[in-house]
Amino acid sequence: MLMSRNAEADVFAMAASPLLEPMAEALFELDPAPDPRSHPAALMMALGGVSAYKSARVWDSMLWGQGLWERIRCSSAQAERLLPVRRPTLSEVDKMYRRNKEIGDLLVDPLLEQSLPLFRRGGLLVPRQWDFQDISRENTIRADGTTLRHRASLTKKEVARRIKEGIPVSAHAWVQDEVKTKKEGKRLHGIPVELVMVDSGVPYLGGVLTLRAHRERQETLAARHDLKRVIRAAGGAVEAVSYDGLLKGVDVEELLLLGVMPIVPLHQPGPGQQHVPIPEAALGDKSRAHFGIIKTVTHDFNSCVHELWGVDGVIRTVRPGQNVTWDSPVCRVEEIESRRTEDGKTPYVWVIVPCKKSTFRVALDVRERREGHPKSSILNVFRVYPESEPMYQRIKGWRSPVEGMFSAMKGRVAENDLSPRLKISRLQLDLIGYAFLYNTVMWDVHISQFTSVGSQQYTEIGRAADKRRAA
Ligand SMILES: [Zn+2]
Repeated sequence: MLMSRNAEADVFAMAASPLLEPMAEALFELDPAPDPRSHPAALMMALGGVSAYKSARVWDSMLWGQGLWERIRCSSAQAERLLPVRRPTLSEVDKMYRRNKEIGDLLVDPLLEQSLPLFRRGGLLVPRQWDFQDISRENTIRADGTTLRHRASLTKKEVARRIKEGIPVSAHAWVQDEVKTKKEGKRLHGIPVELVMVDSGVPYLGGVLTLRAHRERQETLAARHDLKRVIRAAGGAVEAVSYDGLLKGVDVEELLLLGVMPIVPLHQPGPGQQHVPIPEAALGDKSRAHFGIIKTVTHDFNSCVHELWGVDGVIRTVRPGQNVTWDSPVCRVEEIESRRTEDGKTPYVWVIVPCKKSTFRVALDVRERREGHPKSSILNVFRVYPESEPMYQRIKGWRSPVEGMFSAMKGRVAENDLSPRLKISRLQLDLIGYAFLYNTVMWDVHISQFTSVGSQQYTEIGRAADKRRAA
């Protein structure tokens, strides 16, 4: 969506953004700017401006050449927000970064804290309605070798040779800190970043709630931590989470305990799970499904016994001793009930088990372990919304806006050509600049669609902040 607007419109939107002052305020608290000429709001403008122009060099030259900063200042002054005469160039940001290298990490909290209420006020987080509330967390940004080249690995001689031979030389940022990760058997060098995005229901228009570079290889742990944080902060507004497959049964269980429906594909088969070939007719994009026992239940009315199995995420039932197949009778998930227990709330999944003469209901406690597999969660073999469900498909469909956002972010970072010695926290700072821009533009597009409320009310916040700083 940023493509359809021009960078200058985005920059003016930032100058009027309700996020600007609160983020700048947080910046001021984190880094009390020993240089009195640097102004936190202007520094935030620079962070976002670099993203808007996709390049630090272009942002800096726009500031010098075109009177842009003066026009921004004038427009801000009309809204009674005073920005300094001094242009916020990237070198200002770099100075700030040198004073506090953790600033990228430290700005994550204000990003979440300021963006959430903004989205809520804009009606973008509405509990109990599907359209605007769902947060999906997608794959890590992997600044792999194709995105960010390790410039240090090229000698000057090599660069000269390439230029001479017409081979393109990447002017991309210099990655110093690397995290090695594995994906599809391929070893990637880069900086994995967690990102949680709120889906606005408008294609390619979402918002970033948190992003965090994680140093260890514990992607799932980091994701779980950040997801829980966002879910708690959203206070019930998050009903479902879509995830790309790293979450295991225990993670699913944790999310269910938080009252959030995880929409995740089944993981690789765990203990006691096997693969079954999928019949031709049901074949989707995979040829094999896995299955495993959940538990054995007694049917009081008919005094018979049923085994419940998860088969490719769907619960099916067989008589003990029989082999479960792709065609075994399906136990439909009827509802999810939250029950109070000694240790808080526990979700129960009610399933309807078919039997010859009648059906009966069974409540599965999501904390249960699988029969004969005391270490494996029952959620490892079935999904409340299996992949065949329309709901699953719908939520999975949100993947493309998220992916779009990722590639846009990767683009911004890669072209941020003046980032010297890009360390993880510096990258994160750039990404926060992008998130600030992105959330601002989302807000701008949103309010221009629904209301004519200008930036006026938000400048009150700004003036108050300026007064506090002056005091
Ligand atoms: Zn029965």
